[in-house]
Amino acid sequence: MQLQCPHCQKTNRIPDERLGDDPVCGACAKPILSGVHPVGAQGLTALQSQSAIPVIVDFWAPWCGPCVGFAPTFAAAAQKFGGQLVFVKVDTEANQDLGARYNIRSIPTLAVFKGTSELGRVSGALPPRQLDELIQRVLQGGQV
Ligand SMILES: [Zn+2]
Repeated sequence: MQLQCPHCQKTNRIPDERLGDDPVCGACAKPILSGVHPVGAQGLTALQSQSAIPVIVDFWAPWCGPCVGFAPTFAAAAQKFGGQLVFVKVDTEANQDLGARYNIRSIPTLAVFKGTSELGRVSGALPPRQLDELIQRVLQGGQV
């Protein structure tokens, strides 16, 4: 699949079987999965069908103050847990089809997927500690 490096924005082609091994960017050599990836419908579908690790999606929009305020919390978690989950964000303004497909009623909404099944979602900007706890639960196979 193709993923944009969150550090230098170069598009990398990653073989499916390497998604779980913390691949590094061909251009800047930083870990590709330890960052937040902006995706659209195609990228999200590709990740859901190919990623061996859970995918956590931040549904947001540029005009949403709480979403913008939550971005650093999400980015910090992506640094901490990169390689264990894939962190992506979907701009629901630019991708209204995705907001509709996942029935996103308020933003920010965080949804976690394992393959194509949704493990659960929470709405609202989580404080860092609650986001950490949510991720730990996902990694332990629990509820979102
Ligand atoms: Zn890079």
